[in-house]
Amino acid sequence: MITRLFTWLFPQPKKPVRKKPHLGETYNLKDLFDSVNADYFENKLRLPIFWSGDKLAKPKTKIRLGSYHIKQQEIRIHRILDHPDIPSYFIRFIIYHEMLHHVHPPLIRKSGRRAIHHAQFLHHEKQFKEYDQVQTYLKDWKKKAFKSLS
Ligand SMILES: [Zn+2]
Repeated sequence: MITRLFTWLFPQPKKPVRKKPHLGETYNLKDLFDSVNADYFENKLRLPIFWSGDKLAKPKTKIRLGSYHIKQQEIRIHRILDHPDIPSYFIRFIIYHEMLHHVHPPLIRKSGRRAIHHAQFLHHEKQFKEYDQVQTYLKDWKKKAFKSLS
């Protein structure tokens, strides 16, 4: 009730609400997530997945293709990947990589530093069927000064 009164007294500017933030023009992230979940995680992961970022981001600027947000337990995929030129195995891999962040949380080293892409993580990552194809594709992206993954 107090909250209601507060919002009545101080109305918040309304953000445009996207009803289906997983739907892109080319790719449906939820469908891709579900297929990766079935192929690699026995359908066990339940994580929201959304498009983020600006589709018209300049190719020269560094872009995070995907990210996993530990607190919210959600995956965000950069909208620049929502394009028919992007092979589906590549975007599936980006999703797979972010799902692995959920499965393999960061380790704290003896030095106190956090290891994010640690050995266990990388070992699991290599089990992706098109791993080699993805690496070749990624090299090409890096040439174009894209930031790969985080
Ligand atoms: Zn990562």
